[in-house]
Amino acid sequence: MKVKLAAMEALGGKCNCSLEVCWHMGSCVVTDHRILQFDHLIGGGKKEVLQSIDGAPRRARYYRRIMESDKRREGRYQLLCANCNWMKRALLGL
Ligand SMILES: [Zn+2]
Ligand SMILES: [Zn+2]
Repeated sequence: MKVKLAAMEALGGKCNCSLEVCWHMGSCVVTDHRILQFDHLIGGGKKEVLQSIDGAPRRARYYRRIMESDKRREGRYQLLCANCNWMKRALLGL
């Protein structure tokens, strides 16, 4: 899945966790694409966990949308590692 890797590189290729209380000390240093996930930021800083999308073709389109969005500097997506994603969900009560 090259498109996925390209989209991850576009977003900096590392976990962008900004939680003050998390499993790591200081900033998260996870850069392994196998455990990084896309996190969808929706207007006004409100964060929403993206629903999983079924099917590879749709997913490739989704990754391209992320890259397009990043090129326009919309700041709609960021990378979080699986641990931080779960931590954020727990903190948001999801
Ligand atoms: Zn992380
Ligand atoms: Zn974290």
